[in-house]
Amino acid sequence: MILNYEKKMLVENSFVIRVSNFIRKAINNLNEQNFKFDLRNENDVIKFKEIVEATTRINLIKKDGEKTIETKKNTIKLTYLSSNLKKGFIFFFICNNCGNRVRLLYIPPNSEDLFCRNCHRLSYEKQNKKPDKILKHLLINPQTIFTFKPRTLKEALSYYKAVDIFNKIKKDNGIDVIDIY
Ligand SMILES: [Zn+2]
Repeated sequence: MILNYEKKMLVENSFVIRVSNFIRKAINNLNEQNFKFDLRNENDVIKFKEIVEATTRINLIKKDGEKTIETKKNTIKLTYLSSNLKKGFIFFFICNNCGNRVRLLYIPPNSEDLFCRNCHRLSYEKQNKKPDKILKHLLINPQTIFTFKPRTLKEALSYYKAVDIFNKIKKDNGIDVIDIY
């Protein structure tokens, strides 16, 4: 029997590379090798893009006890738009999987591929949590905490959380409950 559990992968646990930082590092790196690019000039931008795409490989080095493991080497594809102010060009990555123009690329913990967020089905932790309306209501109106009667388990959890936070605030600030009524 094979049981598959799908655990949602989170952006927060992934290696992430931002195009602006990547471009800055690439320019510095090439300048040190005596390439001089003026990235306000489109011919230079094209040359820069060609060299970067041909020479860059991105992977992770993972330590497993004494051993170091290098993950798959990913290529990089770039594209650019001229900026509205006509002062230069804005770079984007092209996702190696879907071909979309993106600013960020990721390698999640269980993958070696450098793809965009959609291709890795990554979500933000925050998106997985709905805002707790009851908790918010109780904390904004602390006088309601002690008359609130939870009807569901979810409400009870919000209620206990509110009581905890309220007591902590009370303790930290030396406020007595009596002052509030
Ligand atoms: Zn993609």
